[in-house]
Formats: sequence, structure tokens, C-alpha cells
Amino acid sequence: MMTHSALDTNPLLESWTGPFEAPPFNRIEPHHFRPAFDAALAQARAEIDAVAADPAPPTFANTIEALERSGRSLDKVAGVFFNLAGAHTNDELQTIEREIAPILARHRSETYLNEALFKRIDALKARTVTLALSAEQARVLERYHLDFTRAGAGADRQAQARLATIAERLATLAAEFGQHVLGDEKDWLMLLDERDLEGLPDFFIASAARAAEDRGHAGKYAVTLSRSSVEPFLQFSARRDLREIAFRAWAARGENGGATDNRAIAAELVRLRAERARLLGYETYAHYRLADTMAKTPKAALDLLESVWTPGVASARKDEEALQAIAADEGQNFKLAPWDWRYLAEKRRKAEFDLDESELKPYLQLDRIIDAAFYAAHRLFGVTFNERFDLKLYHPDVRAWDVTGSDGAPKALFLGDYFARPSKRSGAWMSGFRGQQKLDGPQLPIVVNVMNFAKGGEGEASLLSVDDARTLFHEFGHALHGMLSDVVYPRISGTHVAGDFVEFPSQVFEHWMQQPEMLRRFALHYKTGEPMPQALVDKLLTARRFNQGWATVEYTASALVDLKLHLDTSPEEVDVVAFEREELKRIGMPDAIAMRHRTPHFQHIFSGGYSAAYYSYLWSEVLDADGFEAFEESGDIFDPGVAKRLNDFVYSAGGSRDYDEAYRAFRGRPPSPEALFRKRGLELGES
Ligand SMILES: [Zn+2]
Repeated sequence: MMTHSALDTNPLLESWTGPFEAPPFNRIEPHHFRPAFDAALAQARAEIDAVAADPAPPTFANTIEALERSGRSLDKVAGVFFNLAGAHTNDELQTIEREIAPILARHRSETYLNEALFKRIDALKARTVTLALSAEQARVLERYHLDFTRAGAGADRQAQARLATIAERLATLAAEFGQHVLGDEKDWLMLLDERDLEGLPDFFIASAARAAEDRGHAGKYAVTLSRSSVEPFLQFSARRDLREIAFRAWAARGENGGATDNRAIAAELVRLRAERARLLGYETYAHYRLADTMAKTPKAALDLLESVWTPGVASARKDEEALQAIAADEGQNFKLAPWDWRYLAEKRRKAEFDLDESELKPYLQLDRIIDAAFYAAHRLFGVTFNERFDLKLYHPDVRAWDVTGSDGAPKALFLGDYFARPSKRSGAWMSGFRGQQKLDGPQLPIVVNVMNFAKGGEGEASLLSVDDARTLFHEFGHALHGMLSDVVYPRISGTHVAGDFVEFPSQVFEHWMQQPEMLRRFALHYKTGEPMPQALVDKLLTARRFNQGWATVEYTASALVDLKLHLDTSPEEVDVVAFEREELKRIGMPDAIAMRHRTPHFQHIFSGGYSAAYYSYLWSEVLDADGFEAFEESGDIFDPGVAKRLNDFVYSAGGSRDYDEAYRAFRGRPPSPEALFRKRGLELGES
């Protein structure tokens, strides 16, 4: 039983007075969350009900702005909770996550299905032109109206009741799905002895020794299912038998039977999403989901995916022959399997480009790559980063930086949480503890990047792969989108934009990682401090398009399966694994390549925000490939004029304007898909 005195000392409910009003992590315990959620939810409910019950006629201020001010305490509590649930969870937090997910869904339904409240918003929307709103205010009003109608406001009562039930169930299932993947990843470990290390480079052996030690097996070497462990293992291990074991375990996450099996959960999610879409008047969930994106229709997204699929497969088939020949040259006559591709591709890269990933890695130190990201942000947007050591954060590995704008004023607090650990879910992401807004004076954002890099040995630098470095730049691009945000209203702040636009600021930022002048400055050998030799830089840059057919296939197959699952008009009896198998057969998936994310562990679409929208990465890639060429055309990768437009219309603009219009304002014309094909080295199709 929670007493009032316990509530009074709940750090989650206090006003936070430290630097940047950062959460007092050192005082927050798991048992604080439930009472804090309950109190914050009650407060948010009261605030929203007061807006709905306001006897005064609706105005933008007493309705939209009042809603924008509501629920701040809930945002604080949820911000801390969900960041910890992803980056540093435990059994207690997992229990709360399962409990709170449907309660939060109910809270949202109660808001969106509040008839009196929707009437006020609808009345305002109907007379937008007479309200004398700023462009940003008009956009915020339009967003609110859309949020409500897309959640079922205006539907009949019976439909609304069913929509509310569905929303709660979906939230529960999504939380369970993610926890199951984490469970399967935590449970699996492959321990190696000295004699099993053939082909593995020093950096891998060092981090595998550390991973084994962390898990109580000192003297051995551990392969885990974290991408930063299993991928280099598949790339370098000469032991085909062990590669197969590791690959199969990785591919089977969520499909192992027992308590963590996700197949039934995925099927129920697909079924309920379809039902929700039908209740809202859409043909399928994909139609519903894409209506408010840049693509607008599933057909537009499918067309883009299919335009790269055929040339992607053609390119991968050529690569497959070359890899098969390499295996044959070594006297191995097996038929290429998915656990062979990375290994043989690495051999081919060595042979054709004389480029060895383990030769690059000593030059890619985590700390220098962080410096590089900060440097690019400084050159482009004038921001500077100063590390601070006085904050008590949620794990000793988490670091913090003050971010200052070009005018010298504080701009944001940036947190970096870079290393894999069992309490963290896999993948890499950007998230926030607080968003930017200035409705009642400036509120500065607190943004976090979470990665799963392998930690270097004691006193050693942590070394990244080229992919890791690109991931760091990607997530930092999202972080900049959150930190450079300069809007009034929370609803359209930072990354609150359409899913197929949100990857543009992140993906375009990746381009700076692989610029020669950046590599010369920041790719420094971890022992000698020497910059990467020019010959190696050249090799790295010419090899960029290497294996792009494979990358296109593994990604596009996942995106197509996602979209098709959510285009299914009769998903009542769907068996997601059989569906996946059929779809892969239909599109002609090469046997030697696996989907980047198989359905039973596809967290993007079942526990993240990318359902029916995994295509977004490719959609945004059209923008990033075309957009970065604006810098190349200017002859300066930091061209101040282009950078200013990128800041003004993209990074600082949040969702304050239509996305097509934002892109055109930055680029001076609509995006052209040709740059994407050039970037991936694919042949542009005939159609
Ligand atoms: Zn992203």
C-alpha cells in the first residue's frame, strides 16, 4: 500500500532542479514508477478533462495550447521509464512495462475518444481561416484534428469501444514482443576455447574474452546474439560449423517455442491492426498507416521497394557466383548458405579491394568517431559539445555533454550510452527524456543515443566497424534533429514527423562519416595515433558499393514482408512464419541471403514504431542521397548556405510544415531517385 508520505518523497514527482533539470537517476528506484505513473496519469486526466469541460467557447489558446500544456508530469515519468525499459531494464521494470502499457493506451483512448473535447477541436478546425493563426499554429491544429480522427473520434460508440479495447491489447502485445526478443538474446551464449578462434581478429577476441568474463566464464570467449558480436563472428570465423550454429540461433530469436515465442503475438498484432484499420474506414492497416506519411499510399511505397528489388537481386546473384567460386578455390564445395555470405564476402573484399575490415578497425576508435560527429555538427550547424562529469546517470557507461548553440546559449543536454550489456535491448536508437518547446519560455531538450557496441578490453580503446561508425552517425543525426529543434509547440517538435521523413536527417548525416577529410582527421590508429593512410582511405571509399546487392536484398525483403503482412485483407488465420516463407518465395529471395529481420523478432514493426513502415529507410534514402549531393554540387561538404537551409527547413523545423514542401525548400526542387541508385551502385530499372 502506497501512503501519502511515500508519494511525497517520490523523486519522479518532484520538480528536478539539477543541471538541465535532468532526472535524478541516482534516487530513482523501480518501486517509484507505479505510484508516479498513477499520480501523473490522474493529473493528466484532470487537466484534459478541464479543457473538455471549459464553458468558454473553444479558442486555440483554451483548447490546443491547453492540451499542449497538459500531461507534463506524465511525460517526465514516461520519459524516464521507457528509456530505462529499453536501455537498462530488469525484472521489476519488465513487470511494470507489461502492466503500464495497456493503462497508457487506455489513457490515450479516453483522450482521443472524448466527445466534448473532439467537438472543440473540430469546431476550431472548421474555422481555421478565421482564427488568425501563425503557420505553425495552423499546422498544430491540423495535427491535433488528424490525431483525433485517426484514433476514432467521430466514429460510432460501438466502434469506439472496440477501438479502445484493441489499443490496450496492442500495447500489451508490443511490450511482450520486445521482452521476448531480449529474453532469447540474453539466454543464448556460445563459449569458445582457444582452438575455436581460427580467423577471428584480435579486436573480436578481446571483446569476446571480456563478454565471457562479464558472464562468469573467465578464460573463455563468448559469442552473443548482439549484432556487434554475432556479425563480426559470421564475417571472420573460419569455422563453418560454428558460424552455422551462431547464425541459426540469431535467426531463430522469437521462434524457439516456450515462454518467449513471438509467433502467436505477431499474428494477433497483425489481426488487431487490420481490424482497427477497418473500423476507421481503411481498406487495410497499411492504407491506414501510410495515409499520413510522405508516401501516402502503400502503392507508392511498394513501387519504390520493387524498383530496387530486381536490380538488387541481380547484383546479389552476380556476387553469389563470385563467392561460390572463392569457396571452390579453397576446395570447399558446399552450396552457399546465409552463414557463409559475410565470411566469403570479407575474403572477396580482401582479394578484390585489398581491404580487410580488421585493418580498418584499429583506426575507428569510438571516442574519435564521437569527436567526428560533434565536429561535423559544429561545422554544419555551429553547435559545440562539452563533456560534463558531474551528473549522476542511470549506468556508469553513460556519458553526458552540454550542447551550446552558435550564439553561445545552452541548447541541449546530450547523453551517449554506447556499449552492449544484457540489460539493454538490441539495436541502436535515439530517444529523449524531454523534448524542445518554447510555449512558456524555452524548454531545452535532453536527448540520448543508445548503441550496442562491443566494449574494448580494460584500458583499451573501443574499436568500431565501419557499420558501427555509420550507425553512430545515423543515431547522432536523429539526436541533432531533436536538439536543433526550434519550434514553439511540443506536438511538432524535433523528431515528431512522418516515419518516412524522420530517417532523412539521420541518414543524410551518415554521409559525413565517410568523407576523406573527415577520415584523415578522425580515423586515428588507437595505438600510434597515426591517421588512416591515404591508400586505406582510398580503398575504403572505392569499396563502399561492395556487397550492396546483398544489403539491398536483406533490407528490401524485410520491408516487403512487413508491408505485405499489413496489406493482408483477411489476416484472421495468419501464420506469420508461413506468410513470410510464401512472400519470400514469390519475390524470388535468394537462398543464400536471409532477411535482415525475420518476422518473429522484427522489433521495428512489432514493438517499435515502424509497422507497415519499414520501407521508410529506403524512402528517406531517396532524400538523403539526393540531399547530400547538394553539398557535393557546391564543392564544399560544409557549405554554409546549403547547411543553413538544411538546418532551417529540416533539422530545426520539426513537423512545422509539409514534408514535401520542407524538402523542396531545402533542395530547391523535389527529390530525384537517381542519386539513390548511384549511391547503391544499382542499375536504374527500365520502367
Ligand atoms: Zn533511424
